[in-house]
Amino acid sequence: MRVMEYTQSTVKSNKRKIMSFEQLALHHKILKALEELGYETPTLVQEKVIPKVLKGHDIRASAQTGTGKTAAFLLPALERLMTPSTKPGKGPRILILAPTRELAMQITSQAEKYGKYLNRLKVVCLMGGVPYPMQIRNLKQPYEILVATPGRLQDFIDRGTVKFSRLEMLVIDEADRMLDMGFAEPVEKIVSITPETRQTLLFSATLKGSVVQLSDRLMNKPMEIHAHAKKEKHENIFQKLHFVDNLPHKNRLLDHVLKDVSEGHAIVFTSTKRHADQLVGELKEKGHRAAALHGDMNQRQRTRAINGLRKGAFNILVATDVAARGIDVPSITHVINFDLPQNGEDYVHRIGRTGRAGANGTALSFAAKRETSLVKQIEKYTGQTIAITTVEGLEPRTTEAPSTKKKRFHPRPYSQKKFRPKPKFSRR
Ligand code: AMP
Repeated sequence: MRVMEYTQSTVKSNKRKIMSFEQLALHHKILKALEELGYETPTLVQEKVIPKVLKGHDIRASAQTGTGKTAAFLLPALERLMTPSTKPGKGPRILILAPTRELAMQITSQAEKYGKYLNRLKVVCLMGGVPYPMQIRNLKQPYEILVATPGRLQDFIDRGTVKFSRLEMLVIDEADRMLDMGFAEPVEKIVSITPETRQTLLFSATLKGSVVQLSDRLMNKPMEIHAHAKKEKHENIFQKLHFVDNLPHKNRLLDHVLKDVSEGHAIVFTSTKRHADQLVGELKEKGHRAAALHGDMNQRQRTRAINGLRKGAFNILVATDVAARGIDVPSITHVINFDLPQNGEDYVHRIGRTGRAGANGTALSFAAKRETSLVKQIEKYTGQTIAITTVEGLEPRTTEAPSTKKKRFHPRPYSQKKFRPKPKFSRR
């Protein structure tokens, strides 16, 4: 068997040589950390957002995951911390709200990296699935940045453990997902107890409908920034579609494709948690190194799964949508949609797990013929056509165009017929 059409051609790097980080007037301690991380130039969203934030504007920005949006708000936030607070009391100077635990952890780790050379910078992360005592201990120390999921933060606010008297900046990340997950009310409740003088930033994959309405309620004459660069079109990700006949066909195809991934790392998306677990079992039986990541796992298990992938303990993560949002493992070479996502937005989030920071990636989707309209809907959302591909020996039975296919009638044997034909002389 041979995989067809998988060869990746060289694509242009998404890094543009228009501006340097020095031109963004960031503190040399921040620049030093960026240099160490190998960041050469700001991404488009960083270039557009950072100067406006440094000027103190409220911003709502449409930027998808994988574009460098986290640094777009963290870098100016850290710049603010270079000037000591004039306000008394404890509590965060910067509050970042994230819809999922993975994203919250990701933001926390990035804040620590970018703020590595800032004196005594402390970042606290509050999220569900983690024991309270440790988080309570962290909140007792002085800290500047608080990253939190809305539910757990509300708990701490209700206990009187978090106060916002010193708060200068509020960031709402992935606002669209926040609303999808039903967090509109807790977010508004949290924002209502923060100082009116705060600067507010909101990031969302799309800026429309309820996201705009939310930002209108929470922000003061926000500037709107649309950062749709090449990378957001995922031009560095090679998207392919396999038509499949049924589940056994999908399984055979997955087994085959994963052999191709032996050198890299893959995330396989399923639509249910149960199927994710089941698929991990099946893959292990076939000799693959796989682990699951889904919402029924506690935080320790989820962290272990992501770290296991990062460190190469296994190279395949079978995940569901919510759990995988925010995963940033640069070595992920393949995203495989074993089950199609529900919509274009989820598709973009899924495939954005590969091709991180300018690398190339491959995104494969398995679809039944009857899912063609969903595929079209995804293509309309991304504005890109997904190339149909086949693997020799594993072609679907249903690829022929209906017009060229001659209909043949195969009568069922009499014994299999549900109803016997009427007796010949029944009218007598
Ligand atoms: P994000 O969209 O914030 O999830 O970032 C996607 C990835 O890009 C992360 O791995 C970041 O570490 C990386 N990144 C962010 N900004 C830059 C930059 N200016 N140059 C290179 N990599 C970057």
